[in-house]
Parts: sequence; C-alpha cells; structure tokens
Amino acid sequence: MTQPFYASSAINRHGDYRNNDRLLNSITTEKNTKFVPYYNGKNLFMNINENINPIIFNQEQLHDFFPDKIGNTIFLGVANTLNYVGIDLSTPNQKFDFWLKENNVIIDDLRKYGPILDDIEASFLALSNGMFFWQKTHKFCGSCGFQNYSTEGGFVMKCSNDKCGKSHFPRTDPAIITLISFHDKVLLGRSPRFPDCMYSTLAGFVEPGESLEQALEREVFEEVGIKVKNIKYFNSQPWPFPASLMLGFFAEAINDQMTIDYDEIEDAQWFSINELKSLQHPSIKGGFKLPRVDSIARRLVDTWINSFN
Ligand SMILES: [Zn+2]
Repeated sequence: MTQPFYASSAINRHGDYRNNDRLLNSITTEKNTKFVPYYNGKNLFMNINENINPIIFNQEQLHDFFPDKIGNTIFLGVANTLNYVGIDLSTPNQKFDFWLKENNVIIDDLRKYGPILDDIEASFLALSNGMFFWQKTHKFCGSCGFQNYSTEGGFVMKCSNDKCGKSHFPRTDPAIITLISFHDKVLLGRSPRFPDCMYSTLAGFVEPGESLEQALEREVFEEVGIKVKNIKYFNSQPWPFPASLMLGFFAEAINDQMTIDYDEIEDAQWFSINELKSLQHPSIKGGFKLPRVDSIARRLVDTWINSFN
C-alpha cells in the first residue's frame, strides 16, 4: 500500500524532549537545527534551477533577520540527526520582508508542491502548519477566557489564570472519506469549492457521539441518498490544512439510484474503470479530473482501479 503523504516514518517527534526546557532552548541555538517557517498559514518556497524547494533556515540565517529574539517556535522533532523547529514568521519584519521580495520567494499553500517535495521536509512543513494554526486558534482559554501561553515545546497551550491553569492540547478533526462502489463502477461527486472539473470521493466530518461507520453512512445518505454496506477501513491521511485527519474507507452501495442533495454537492456520477482511466464521462462535457495525488481520495481511487489488474 502506498504511504500517506505528509506523514514520513523517518520523523521522531521526541515527545520526551517537550518537558525539558533547557534542552529545547539549546536546540534553538544548535548548528544541526533547521527552522521550518510558517507564514500566515502558508509556507515559503524557492525555484532553484526549475526545482521547487521549501525554504528551511538555519540558526545563523534567522539570527540575521531577527538579532534580538527569533519569535514563537515549536519543537517539531528529529530526522536524520537534524532537529526541526517550526517558527512563525508572520509578524511583519522589514528586513525579512525585503529578503522575501529580493529572492523572489514563493509564498504558497504546501499542497500545491507537496507531492514533489522531499518526504521529510513536506511532513515537517505540514506538522508546523497544523501546530501554528492550532496555537493561533487557542490563544485564549476555552474554560475561563484568560490568555493561554505556549509550553512543552509548543504542544500545550496553558491558561495563564492561576485559578484555572487548564492545559489545552492540539486538536485534529476526524473526517471520513469513502469510495462507494456498485459492482464495476464507483461514485464520485464534486463540491462547488473544488477546482474546475474535479470529481472526488465523498467526505464529511465525524460528529460527537458518532462512530466512523455511522458518520460514513450518514454523510453518504445526506449527499447522494444511497445506503451502503460492507464498510471497510483503508488507511488514513493527516490533512492539517488546517486541522483534519482523513480516515479512508471503501463501501458498497445497496443500489445505484442517487438522490443528490444539491445544497451539499454540485454533482455526482457513477464512473466505470475505463472512464476513470480516460478521464472522460458521457455526462461531463470536456472530461474531468481526479483528486490531487497527495490526497487519500486519489489513493482510494487508484487502489480500486488497481484491484482489477
Ligand atoms: Zn482558563
């Protein structure tokens, strides 16, 4: 089975370092530490000889831009004996902003380049994005409203109110995503938010008190009015864009009669293997596109096609 993107197995998050402030402080000054920039929800890339590379700084480079204090950091982990630390560079800084312009730095969504990047770097970028997004949406304590502060390497946001002191931990929203089949065809739909002509597997967030299977049955019935059976877990895909974990399933439709809820999706169709391979469908003028290669939706479709080979 192909491995999920943005989840490199070469990364050790070293949760055991997070309680050791002295160690974490020394890591930010070490030569073998790399800093993964987060920039207003995006990342920084450079085009070098027609290759897109993420910008990852060393300590000296950062010190040049930020001689006094390097700002909010999150300890992300270790890979190949290098420490990786996320750094939020979103606050305007004249020298840094000038450097960005002077070097034609590309400020963009990681997903645009994810599949062509080094697995370890792409995974650290994704982790960094997810963590900073979580911190930014947990600036205040949900229990008492006081300000939170970052601690334990950035993996805890702690309430500053002595009487409360609640620790808030990173959150990930589970979402089911499913490839529905009926004999030799599969169901794909499109949301108005999708890129032009793209059809993908159905997906939706899991609600409190709901099992994954129930969420799947509910979402599929809501969107296309189809009941399913033989739900089988496939694989997962971290999707910290900004805060999801996609849980992939295969399921079989009881029949192929759709009742589409057009408030939820724009269109849905049944696709044969040949249609999936040719990207042509009799009801879709000009052809269609499959989901991006870094998505679990695409892996579900590809796995289903390959199961017939
Ligand atoms: Zn509190």
